[in-house]
Amino acid sequence: MKDNIAIYEPVTRLHGVGKVLENKLRGLGISRIKDLLFHFPRRYENRTKINLINSANDSTASLIEGEIKSSSVVFARRRTLMLRVSDVSGDVMVRFFYFNKSQQKSFRKGVKVRLFGQIRQGRYAKEMIHPECRTIDPENRPPLEKTLTSIYPTTEGLSQARLRRLIQQALLISENLDLSHEEELLPKELRQSLGLPNLREAIRVIHHPPKGTELFFTSTRSHPAQKRMIFEELLAHQISLKEKRLDRNKHTAPKCGELKKDTALKNRIGFSLTKGQNNAVSEIANDLQSGVPMLRLLQGDVGSGKTVVAAMAASILIEEGYKVVIMAPTELLVDQHHKTFSAWFTDVEVILLTGRLSERERDLAKSKIANKCPSIVIGTHAVFQKDVVYTNLGLIIVDEQHRFGVGQRLALNQKGNSRELKAHQLIMTATPIPRTLAMAAYADLDISTIKDLPPGRSPVTTAVIPEERRKEVITRISSAVNDGTQVYWVCPLIEESDKIDTESAIKTTSLLAGELKSIKVGLIHGRMNEIDKEKIMNNFINGRINLLVATTVIEVGVDVPNASLMIIENAERLGLAQLHQLRGRVGRGEKQSSCLLLYKTPLSEMAEKRLQAIRATSNGFEIAERDMELRGPGELLGTRQAGIAQFKIADLTLDGALIELVEKTAETLLLEQPAVAKKIQERWLADRRGYRYV
Ligand code: ADP
Ligand code: MG
Repeated sequence: MKDNIAIYEPVTRLHGVGKVLENKLRGLGISRIKDLLFHFPRRYENRTKINLINSANDSTASLIEGEIKSSSVVFARRRTLMLRVSDVSGDVMVRFFYFNKSQQKSFRKGVKVRLFGQIRQGRYAKEMIHPECRTIDPENRPPLEKTLTSIYPTTEGLSQARLRRLIQQALLISENLDLSHEEELLPKELRQSLGLPNLREAIRVIHHPPKGTELFFTSTRSHPAQKRMIFEELLAHQISLKEKRLDRNKHTAPKCGELKKDTALKNRIGFSLTKGQNNAVSEIANDLQSGVPMLRLLQGDVGSGKTVVAAMAASILIEEGYKVVIMAPTELLVDQHHKTFSAWFTDVEVILLTGRLSERERDLAKSKIANKCPSIVIGTHAVFQKDVVYTNLGLIIVDEQHRFGVGQRLALNQKGNSRELKAHQLIMTATPIPRTLAMAAYADLDISTIKDLPPGRSPVTTAVIPEERRKEVITRISSAVNDGTQVYWVCPLIEESDKIDTESAIKTTSLLAGELKSIKVGLIHGRMNEIDKEKIMNNFINGRINLLVATTVIEVGVDVPNASLMIIENAERLGLAQLHQLRGRVGRGEKQSSCLLLYKTPLSEMAEKRLQAIRATSNGFEIAERDMELRGPGELLGTRQAGIAQFKIADLTLDGALIELVEKTAETLLLEQPAVAKKIQERWLADRRGYRYV
């Protein structure tokens, strides 16, 4: 029993761990001996067998043995020690740029060496650059490793060798424990049905995969020991998210009446809702009747009509006498929402709150927000500033949530905590995420998805065009304008500098204005003041501007249905999600719309894949799947909020298939064995409490 406690002791109990090393280890999330056991290799190297030079795989490092046939120091671009090493299968040229006298002496012709490194096909011969190299005595060859070599995530000043020795010590301590009983947290039936080893076995094998298992460990990640740990880690996350949800259900929120069939709002909107919109509205209405705080993510592709769903939700709370706040990421979008909501809600005040209000306007807005009357507040992040005090806040709506950081959403959420009631939350995003990722990352949220688009839209045709064919593109602009539609020309971020981008947008504008004499060209960019931005935007909406040159400020939310041609310059530099968002600015009216992606050659392989993907489909969900394959889930969720993506061993791109079972298991454990569920959470997440989505 005493021994069981040993692994929960601080690492300083281990040999050779003093203050300095303790700090370094803490940086890696390791403070107890147990944490070393759960510090898993990032990858493995295989030194368990000698490969022939000619058959060594050039994508991974391999071990070879041979005789030095020649050795010389040459002066190419830099001083280089060159060895020609050969075995029965062939030769390899070995280069060292850093070497000392004694190495130069011992690596001489006729000596046998063992090398570990990557073999590449060079221009003239196979090459190895700076491999590990040791001389060997053919009579008395050193033994090979018995297991794969683990390469751990580490930190400056802590070598692999040292970290490995520490983990080895921890493993020895744990060997004496009956980990299989004490610490085994996965239900036995589950392990048996999936063929997963017990904890002790899994830990041992993960740190030292036996010879012969390299395929499972290095390429397919399918060894049962790995799978067991991946499963458990996903489970820990799932449990903690589900627990958050249970916690939320302990609070009370405004309990609303049923959704009315025939509201004034419905009449004012002027179109009937799509099936997807109707479903989302009734899911929201159900939540609002429950009396516990809603936390719902509304996802729907660009142009699917999320705004009107938000308005319906708002109307339910307004009817009950509460306030509703809507936060959007850009002033452009706030203005647009303000216009839309002012037209839709005539019985309550729609209050604008942005950074550009004068002090007096701001004070006035604040006093209205503090009074008891129901109203709708629309603004940028100004809506959650300290001095803004809400009375009777019933619903918080966050538009384009992926544009906000966790902190910003939490700050707004705080505004909705009064003594008795918590506000409902509706979070909207046009960046759909793949289902498995949603299950893993957003298990504490309910999700509504709008899959259809309003009627009468035809998909945007997308063409990928090299920069050299710019002339054609300009002709397209003329004919689009002659047809009475409008055009966007987007100059995306080129430099990391706003200033330089603005300059390039200005230049493009004057170039285009010069070439298209009869067309009215406008320019909008992030460095313009808000009043000018608004003026330009209004002129575009009214049709006084035919061609709008813009930086990516127009990316989110902007809705001008008469625009039917979108041109994106330097499209090769943009990510899939961003391209999709930008393209979503057209195809909003009845006219057939097009998107032309201009690129500069040569294209990187990644960029080419992205452009192919965006051309192949206009379905946001397919694009999201593709995006996850290309970039990984961390990027997709946005690194700031991707606590979930920082797994120790799981990887949502590769392990999505497990999620469904993980979800069920979490559900069962929480219900039937809450103490075990808690332990699993502590094992995996103790060091990152509070780092989560909403
Ligand atoms: P997003 O989901 O990208 O936020 P919006 O809410 O801005 O989409 O809606 C896009 C456009 O579609 C708007 O002009 C809106 O008025 C229109 N729209 C939304 N729903 C419908 C519908 N059911 N029928 C017709 N037009 C609709
Ligand atoms: Mg929108």
